[in-house]
Amino acid sequence: MATRKQRRTKYIFVVGGVMSGVGKGIAASSIGKILQARGLTVTALKIDPYINVDAGTMNPTEHGEVFVLQDGYETDQDMGNYERFMGLSLDRGNYMTTGSVYKSVIDRERNLEYGGRCVEVVPHIPLEVIGRIRAAAKKADADVAIIEIGGTIGEYQNILFLEAVRMMKIERPEDVLVALVSYLPIPGKIGEMKTKPTQYASRTLNSAGLQADIIIARSAVPLDERRKEKIATFCSLRKDSIVSAPDVDSIYDVPLNFEKDHLSDILLKKLGLRARKNTLGDWARVVSRAKKAEKPVRVAVVGKYFKTGDFVLSDVYISVIEALKHAAFAVGRKPELTWIDSEEYENDRKKLAELKGFDGVLIPGGFGSRGVEGKLQAIRFCRENKIPYFGLCYGMQLMVIEYARHVLGLKSANTTEVDPRTKDPVIDILPEQRAKLARKDYGGSMRLGSYTAVIAPKTIAAAAYGASEALERHRHRYEVNPEYVDRIRGAGLVFSGTSPDGTLMEIAELPKSKHPFFLAAQFHPEFQSSLEHPHPLFLAFLKACAK
Ligand code: GLN
Repeated sequence: MATRKQRRTKYIFVVGGVMSGVGKGIAASSIGKILQARGLTVTALKIDPYINVDAGTMNPTEHGEVFVLQDGYETDQDMGNYERFMGLSLDRGNYMTTGSVYKSVIDRERNLEYGGRCVEVVPHIPLEVIGRIRAAAKKADADVAIIEIGGTIGEYQNILFLEAVRMMKIERPEDVLVALVSYLPIPGKIGEMKTKPTQYASRTLNSAGLQADIIIARSAVPLDERRKEKIATFCSLRKDSIVSAPDVDSIYDVPLNFEKDHLSDILLKKLGLRARKNTLGDWARVVSRAKKAEKPVRVAVVGKYFKTGDFVLSDVYISVIEALKHAAFAVGRKPELTWIDSEEYENDRKKLAELKGFDGVLIPGGFGSRGVEGKLQAIRFCRENKIPYFGLCYGMQLMVIEYARHVLGLKSANTTEVDPRTKDPVIDILPEQRAKLARKDYGGSMRLGSYTAVIAPKTIAAAAYGASEALERHRHRYEVNPEYVDRIRGAGLVFSGTSPDGTLMEIAELPKSKHPFFLAAQFHPEFQSSLEHPHPLFLAFLKACAK
């Protein structure tokens, strides 16, 4: 077989100015999407400036969701956006943190791989970064690699990554672009859109030896010509390199908005790539179908990582939220999601009755004992009142505990995560995890990544998947205790998905004759759902909710 010549990859770096949280990840994902629509092969990388070697050890209320890749690497939620928008399946080569970069360099130094030379921050750290970017691009055989640098330029901690960009640009200027995602505030009292912070951001980038090739101007409203001209003049760009990126109702509109300013044409021209026919119309159709949904479907998400000071942070469950939206749109409904802190049910049991006002209840993954009793009460309420219930990971473990307590009659049933001395450990630590915890081996050591589940025929799961196997992503330390499986089954709960050897319970459900939808998964189906391909279990849940 003739092997195709390796492409000459082009690199687009996405950096942030002014402030964080204005949608760099969505901008990077949308750039990828519009380039794919022009027939290009695209890959994406995220660089996080933390010392943490991966995102698995970070507190969710601080950092948001931990997105698990198929190979088990624990990463930032932006990786989920890349996969969802671009339909990619990424791996550990596509994510790096400062900690992981330093760790490789130090490990290599210890192995004498630098041949006795003095190993220095510059150039060895940027060289390691460049090596990783190139390797990921090569592995994907990508025409274009999009690399998002976390944080905001001017922060001390991402300067070495900008140094890597500078070094790449010196070597191959025609192959490297820098897109600055900036923010233009409209201060309430002044009422005018201000460009000055963007000018400062652009200058900060200059002081790192870089010039923005594109400025993506985020703001509450579209940019007017006057503002475009101003940014162009002060940031040394032509007006057509400034892209207006106003707030949108749906993140899925962003690629379409970018194309209103002809971004793919501009990028192709700047990179010297030949323009091909634009197929973004397919995406536009799915997005417009989603918009047509009018009748609401009301889903309560009962969790605990919602509060940060006086604010509510739903970022922690971003993939769950997106997966709910994808499935709602697919059944022609408008998703109305409500966040409920499970601890509220512990303080006031009467509050549980509010769940009757929802079409369905979802309990996502979680850790530790805070809020657990409230979640158990919510599950019981759903079971007894025939409200559709969907549990994810901890949401499955707690569903099994609830069933063991109130149907099987094991009053003290619990998980050893909450009560290590419980009389009935229906959820217990996975054997290989016990040793890891004893060694204090916490980082990247859970049961992580993709495993196959065998689906039992004639179950809700089988009908949803339409297949006898499913490959799903995991992130847990505990499992349904095999010693209790027969008794729980005997009491009527069906384990409709198991590991191929039958030892690990991966999906639990009640038969349709007993409940409209009472199903939970040990894995995280939310990591594999997209607007174009909603996840089958979410779809089944939303169908039940819409009934
Ligand atoms: N805390 C549970 C475990 O470790 C569930 C984890 C999760 O929900 N991701 O098994």
